[in-house]
Amino acid sequence: MANDEFGGRVALVTGGSRGIGRAICLRLAKAGAWVAINHSASAEAADETLEQVKAAGGDGQVYRADVSSHDATDAMYEAIETDRGPVELLVTNAGIASFQDDVDMPIDLWRRIMSVNLDGTFHCVWRAKDGMRARNYGRIVCVSSVNGIAPSRIRPDRLIAYGTSKSAVIGFARNCATAFGPAIRVNCVAPGLIDTDMTKDMSDDMRQQIVAHTPAARVGVPQDVAELTYFLLSDAASFITGQTYVTSGGLVTLP
Ligand code: NAP
Repeated sequence: MANDEFGGRVALVTGGSRGIGRAICLRLAKAGAWVAINHSASAEAADETLEQVKAAGGDGQVYRADVSSHDATDAMYEAIETDRGPVELLVTNAGIASFQDDVDMPIDLWRRIMSVNLDGTFHCVWRAKDGMRARNYGRIVCVSSVNGIAPSRIRPDRLIAYGTSKSAVIGFARNCATAFGPAIRVNCVAPGLIDTDMTKDMSDDMRQQIVAHTPAARVGVPQDVAELTYFLLSDAASFITGQTYVTSGGLVTLP
């Protein structure tokens, strides 16, 4: 449902070109945010996200930056500030996964996963936090994963690096929420299996096993994550910070 919850505030969504990030861009635009759509390689897809944002009555701009680079992230923030103003809503969604056997994983792949998923989150939050504190307004959602909460039971040997990076994101968000409140609220979302490019090569067998263990009896769609992210950024969640919310159809439950 369209509303003006965010009244033109600048929202940066990393990895906004495709999948979950695109759905979040659209959801925040529908709630009145001006959306900075980040991508690192998929320029056409990012342009398509912007077109969809505009078609939905919103506005924004595309920004290319590899968030694993401190300097590139910093330059992106400079450009957003020049074009529109400071980032007040931040969604650190950019992420990569590797589904190869972790026992064969080269150290460079481990470092790349940590660098995008964890360092990328750090770079974006660190660049935003001082301005958010100075203005006494900042809301952050970090996209983690159910693999950051519990190891995969189905293919535990394939997600060690990814799961570790996503556990670290949860710890980082908790620490930031404690350190930077009350000006800034920081929460995590932990999606289960969501239909996107990241998961399109998963075998039917694995997909069926996951659905069989999911009370909601389906795979998720990007909108499932976008709605939760919108809620956590909104005023309705003003007493929620430092938390991790799972959207997995019940596959993973928190105590
Ligand atoms: P996706 O379809 O593969 O999209 C990934 C997005 O991240 C793309 O927009 C990509 O943009 C961007 N990205 C990748 N590396 C980047 C970098 N170094 N700098 C900036 N942007 C970068 O993945 P998705 O499924 O939507 O996943 C989004 C987030 O949700 C990830 O953090 C992922 O770990 C998490 N997640 C996904 C699932 C799932 O089942 N799909 C489950 C749990 C958590 P470019 O193409 O331009 O690089």
